[in-house]
Amino acid sequence: MPAASPQQLTLLGATGSIGASTLDVVSRHPGRYSVFALTAHRAADRLAELCLRFSPRYAVMTDRHAAKKLRDLLQAGHCATTVLEGEQALCEVARAPEADVVMAAIVGAAGLEPTLAAVAAGKKVLLANKEALVMSGQLFMDAVETSGCCLVPIDSEHNAIFQSLPGDFRQHPEAIRRILLTASGGPFLDTSPERLETVTPEEACAHPVWSMGRKISVDSATMMNKGLEVIEARWLFGVASGQIEVVIHPQGIIHSMVDYIDGSVLAQLGNPDMRIPIANALAWPERIDSGAGALDLFEVAALRFMRPDFERFPCLPLAYQVLEAGGSMPAVLNAANEEAVAAFLDGRLGFCRIADVIAATLERDGWPGIETLEAVLEADARARSLACEEIRKRGAK
Ligand code: NAD
Ligand code: MG
Repeated sequence: MPAASPQQLTLLGATGSIGASTLDVVSRHPGRYSVFALTAHRAADRLAELCLRFSPRYAVMTDRHAAKKLRDLLQAGHCATTVLEGEQALCEVARAPEADVVMAAIVGAAGLEPTLAAVAAGKKVLLANKEALVMSGQLFMDAVETSGCCLVPIDSEHNAIFQSLPGDFRQHPEAIRRILLTASGGPFLDTSPERLETVTPEEACAHPVWSMGRKISVDSATMMNKGLEVIEARWLFGVASGQIEVVIHPQGIIHSMVDYIDGSVLAQLGNPDMRIPIANALAWPERIDSGAGALDLFEVAALRFMRPDFERFPCLPLAYQVLEAGGSMPAVLNAANEEAVAAFLDGRLGFCRIADVIAATLERDGWPGIETLEAVLEADARARSLACEEIRKRGAK
């Protein structure tokens, strides 16, 4: 049943892959959702097109030159959207009283403060930006608890787990034996270690199952994406790291599972299409059409599962290690990974050196606890500068 008046949506990261899928779902339900604010970093042309189509009240560009360009484009198109600029404006549209739902789909640490602003304001928060939760962990979940905000995961695995758990799962943690986190294994699942040394950004971004932004595509290729998702699952579902098992499932049909102590295993299945978790989260606890096709099990025919290879994909054990170590270590891992991936994407670092840079950064001394947001941001900044040193030491391929 559509709501009496449309729910107002702030979409952080509107010009990205999740942004596009979100707007696709929203455009199927015009009476149910209305776009309050759209944000992007530099893609003024793309954001202008979206403003002309969805007429949001606000558009935010974090880059000031791009903001000027957007204002000119919107003026020429007679569009009434108000253009704001800078990072603070992201927080303003995330916490604005008019916004009911906030989709957190900025990539990386840049999404942390606006996502926390939406959480603190008690919005319904749809979390795609896993890096924000990885960096701030307990701090993030404490903020959810304090504000009573409704947090729904968008990552397909976590949304599958969310759908496979009862609403009161936090009251019965002993009922869960394991979380089985599925992973496609990325484009290099069968690539030899020698060949991995020379893979290019284009090869790394050619994911066999999902079409995504470039940073998460590289994370999938190194399997750091799964490592970040292990940390994400620990915080979202309150389970110990030893209870989270990664299962390689190359077809991407089972999106993850919950293994209960009585031997029941509950899973969520579907075609690999991000509009499914997005529609689920937008409408939750109701269901709406996502635009995704029906799953054809006869076409799928058989499902394959394998153990992950921790030696070939060292980013995955690094993620388990930082989860055990706690404090600011997950934030350090995330920051070093973002710097190493950026260096790989612009040809300054070989693919196999990404894990080396992260491991070397984690080994540096003096990482503090993270009792405050300032401490998280400090650890993030120091980790980036140390990771850049490590990248320079290793040079280009
Ligand atoms: P993307 O690169 O396609 O889009 C990123 C968006 O963030 C863009 O709108 C960009 O303008 C904005 N952005 C980038 N840097 C910014 C900055 N410094 N300040 C403000 N805005 C900035 O990324 P994506 O694939 O859509 O992924 C977005 C998030 O969702 C990531 O955290 C990713 O891990 C997560 N996620 C993505 C998928 C997927 O299928 N794409 C699946 C699961 C989770
Ligand atoms: Mg995922």
